Amino acid sequence: MSAAVLTGYKCNYCRQTYLNSSDLCGKCGSTASLFEFELPDDGSIVTFTTVWRGVDYLPQPYTLAVIDLGGEIQVLGRVKRGGQGIAINQKVRYAGKDEYGHIFELS
Ligand SMILES: [Zn+2]
Repeated sequence: MSAAVLTGYKCNYCRQTYLNSSDLCGKCGSTASLFEFELPDDGSIVTFTTVWRGVDYLPQPYTLAVIDLGGEIQVLGRVKRGGQGIAINQKVRYAGKDEYGHIFELS
């Protein structure tokens, strides 16, 4: 099984990183095309919360976290805990995406 890959986009002019492609850089206003690149799959937890009563379509509780990916970008995703504790600055690895968003696992 191949590792999950998270694709990012970077402005050709100011180097700002985005998670989604666009025709316009939100930072510098450049209309030069963003180029696609592979984001780091290792990151660390910036902040997190456990959702005990959330949407019906996700098993509860689940953990939402802001993940810093190598200083390139911060991404919101769910963290698979597997009964383990969780902490700020804890290392995580990108595990893929489902219809509800990005998923990370503790590394
Ligand atoms: Zn730019």
